[in-house]
Amino acid sequence: MSTTLMPNYARLPITFVKGDGAWLWDTQGTRYLDALSGIAVCGLGHAHPAITAAICEQAHQLLHTSNIYGIAHQQALADVLVRITGMESSFFCNSGAEANEAALKIARLYGHNSLNVKQPTVIVTDGSFHGRTLATLTATGNPKIQAGFEPLVEGFIRVPYNDVDAMADVVKQHPEVVAVLVEPVTGEGGIVIPDADYLSRLRALCDRHNLLFMLDEIQTGMGRTGEWFAYQHAGILPDVLTLAKSLGNGVPIGACLARGKVADIFQPGTHGSTFGGNPLVCRVALAVIESIEENNLVQRAQALGERFYQGLTSALNGVSGVRDIRVKGLMIGIELDKPCRHLVSKALDKQLLINVTAERVVRLLPPLILSDAQANDIITTLSHLIRENFPA
Ligand SMILES: *Cc1c(COP(=O)(O)O)cnc(C)c1O
Repeated sequence: MSTTLMPNYARLPITFVKGDGAWLWDTQGTRYLDALSGIAVCGLGHAHPAITAAICEQAHQLLHTSNIYGIAHQQALADVLVRITGMESSFFCNSGAEANEAALKIARLYGHNSLNVKQPTVIVTDGSFHGRTLATLTATGNPKIQAGFEPLVEGFIRVPYNDVDAMADVVKQHPEVVAVLVEPVTGEGGIVIPDADYLSRLRALCDRHNLLFMLDEIQTGMGRTGEWFAYQHAGILPDVLTLAKSLGNGVPIGACLARGKVADIFQPGTHGSTFGGNPLVCRVALAVIESIEENNLVQRAQALGERFYQGLTSALNGVSGVRDIRVKGLMIGIELDKPCRHLVSKALDKQLLINVTAERVVRLLPPLILSDAQANDIITTLSHLIRENFPA
C-alpha cells in the first residue's frame, strides 16, 4: 500500500471495484458476499438502481448551492424524516460524528439557556461509540479511541451501559447534568442489546429531571433493527436523534433531529455546515427512504433477523466457544470466548465479508435487500468457520 496515505487504517489486502446488491467484485474479478454493508452504510446494497438513478438525475440538475439559499430537497427530506421519526426539526451535516457534535451543542445550549447551568454535562456510557472528533471521542466509551488525544473535552460523565440506576445516581449527585446520550444497541461496542425497558426507563428519568434524552441511531437507524428506528421498539421518542451511515446508502450525509423544547434551539449563527444537506445528498436520502418503504425493507430486516437468529443458533449449537448470539433485526453479534479477529481474513478466503468488533464479537450488518439464499449462505459459511476455529 502506498505511503502517500496516512497509515491510520489497518486495511485488508483487498480492493473492490464493482458491486451489485449484496455482491462485491475485487480487482481480480472474484465475487464476495457482503455481510457488512460498508459498516451499516449500504442498507440497500451496492449499485441500487433507484439510488444510481437519483444520483445521476441530480448530478444533471444541481449539486450544491449553499445553506445561504433555500434547498428544496433538504426541505422535502426534513418533512419525510419528521413523518418517519416523530421528531420535529432537522439539521443536516456530512457524517455521524458531526451529527453527534450537533447534538452535544444542542445539549450545551439547552443547559445554558433553559436550565441556567454553568457547566452543562452529558451522561454517556461504557462501550459506546460516538465518533472521532474531539468531543465525540470524549463521549465514546473506549479508552483506546481516546489514548493520545488528551486533553479530552470537559462536560461528560460515564456510567455502565444498560444500568438505569447508575444513571439516576449521577443525575442526583450532579446538578450540572443536562442530557443523556446513548446508543439503543451498541454497534462498535459489540452488538450489546440492553434490557427491553432500558430506553423507556431512561426516558422517564430524563422527564423527571428535565434532561434531554439523546439517541445515537447512526448505526441502528433506517430500518436496520426491524423498526425504522430502534427507539420505536420501546414506544418512546427521544428529544434529540442522530443519524448518518445508511441515510445516504454511501453518499455522505448525517442528520441531527430534535423535538419539543429544543426543536428551534439553533438560531441563525449558532451552527452550520458548508456541505450539509446539499441538493445531491438530500435527493439521494429521499430515494433511500422511498425504496425502503416501497419494498417493505423494515419488515424484511425483522424477518431476516429471525432467520439469522434461528439459523445461527442451530448451526452453532454445542460449540462451547460461542458465548452468546445477539440479534436485533440485521444487527447480528456472535460473541466468542476469545479474541477472533483472525476470522475476518479466514472469511475473506471464503469470499465472505464480515467484521469483528470489541475483540471477541463477530459482527454482521448485511444489507436489507439480502435474499433468503444469501442469508443462508452467510449462516453456513460463517458457522463452518467458527466450528473450524472454535471446536466444540
Ligand atoms: C459510525 C458511528 C458514528 C460515527 O460516524 P462517522 O460517520 O464515522 O463520523 C457514531 N455513532 C455510531 C453509533 C456509529 O456507529
